Amino acid sequence: MIEKRDFYINGEWVAPRQPRDFDVIDPSTEEVCAVISLGDQADTDAAVAAARAALDDWMLTDPAERLALVKRILEVYEARMEDMARAISLEMGAPIDMALTSQAASGRSHIRNFIAAFDKVEFIAPLGDHAPNDRIIKEAVGVCALITPWNWPMNQVTLKVIPALLAGCTMVLKPSEIAPLSSLLFAEILHEAGVPKGVFNLVNGDGAGVGSQLSSHKDVDMVSFTGSTRAGIAISKAAADTLKRVHLELGGKGANLIFADADEKAVQRGAMHCFNNTGQSCNAPTRMLVQRDIYDQAVETAREVAEKTRVASAHEPGKHIGPVVSQVQFDKIQDLIQKGMDEGARLVAGGLGRPEGLNRGYFVRPTVFADVTNDMTIACEEIFGPVLSIIPFESEEEAVQIANDTVYGLTNYVQSQDGARRNRLARRLRAGMIEMNGQSRGAGSPFGGMKHSGNGREGGVWGIEDFLEVKAVSGWSND
Ligand code: NAD
Repeated sequence: MIEKRDFYINGEWVAPRQPRDFDVIDPSTEEVCAVISLGDQADTDAAVAAARAALDDWMLTDPAERLALVKRILEVYEARMEDMARAISLEMGAPIDMALTSQAASGRSHIRNFIAAFDKVEFIAPLGDHAPNDRIIKEAVGVCALITPWNWPMNQVTLKVIPALLAGCTMVLKPSEIAPLSSLLFAEILHEAGVPKGVFNLVNGDGAGVGSQLSSHKDVDMVSFTGSTRAGIAISKAAADTLKRVHLELGGKGANLIFADADEKAVQRGAMHCFNNTGQSCNAPTRMLVQRDIYDQAVETAREVAEKTRVASAHEPGKHIGPVVSQVQFDKIQDLIQKGMDEGARLVAGGLGRPEGLNRGYFVRPTVFADVTNDMTIACEEIFGPVLSIIPFESEEEAVQIANDTVYGLTNYVQSQDGARRNRLARRLRAGMIEMNGQSRGAGSPFGGMKHSGNGREGGVWGIEDFLEVKAVSGWSND
């Protein structure tokens, strides 16, 4: 049993002021696999005070010094990738191979991408030839609270910690209490890389405790949050009285528009993408919109993909999908599958209960609903499980209308061989990201949403600039 009750504050591991044990559950076995402690106001205050004390020096360091530190972090991270994969697999149920090649690897690629983007950030730049003594300075926002979820733990932590460090901010990370082990390891990595004391701090806790204490804290200048829209709203309200900057990466209900002229792998690719990470991705293409001419074939292909998708323990090697993260998520997904059936969607694969042969662990059957209408609960709510909803459409106009008829706006997908149509749709779909014909967005491309999917952008230059303030200066000496 792993026991990790301490927090990382001011460069050292310290015991919680008031011990409050919290069990971390292995979702493959439902057994307790680790114990952490949930912090309280005194722990939060100590971490914020350490970050505040470190700010003046850190924000004025030479950017080259911060870049050198992040390069050291990358080296240590790479050396600990296998430990990282094991921690993620245990805490949130990603199968061990996928935990290494996708989950832990996503953290590594974000660190690399930030290093590559860093020299594009201009910390001091002239305003223009018309104002030779003006400068635009970009400087650290200040003390940042970084609050992260459990579904892509290192992806989300590196998307916040690394740009905050590069920008010159100091910070307190509160990872998800459900999946804290990878972040505790990440704190060890930062320590080994030599992050100066107080610049990075970690306090474990839940949303109602450390999460809301950080969001309302008078000495925190910015909250960067990834998680549910529900918590994003609570954080925005809690942050309002102290007027802190709030950056939100929230949920999604991605539409995948598959036209009759799509390539022959489009449906298979879309269904597999929906089931990846057991459906627990904010950008999952969970609403598959299919043009009527190819609808019946698409439903059949999606059914085959669901039936071929193997579900098994996260501890087994292989390309299967693992359990969902918790009993709460398992129950929520079961309720939504039931709602899909009650509201008249046609169940073509999967359904209620665990897959055959799995009696313990939060395993869900890969599920496909056809004949879904966009007003059904399964088309409106983020399910966060391996559940695909297929919706037919006749025309491009109708597809756009259905795709945009959601409170979310994170990622939409388009499958068509018609380039003019793809470019038209890239403009008309209301989402922060549009991915077409299975092509991933390039390294350093900004990640983020519109509407209830949040604000702000993570990754690349945009991700660093989100942690910077713009300062306008006149009377600058050119001597
Ligand atoms: P969650 O909102 O319940 O929790 C996320 C984090 O916020 C946790 O650390 C939690 O302790 C904390 N928290 C919860 N309530 C809080 C409050 N009132 N004040 C402060 N902190 C609070 O979300 P989750 O269940 O961990 O993660 C799943 C959600 O995250 C999904 O909705 C998913 O779409 C979203 N997500 C979004 C992105 C993105 O970039 N857009 C990426 C991954 C996940």
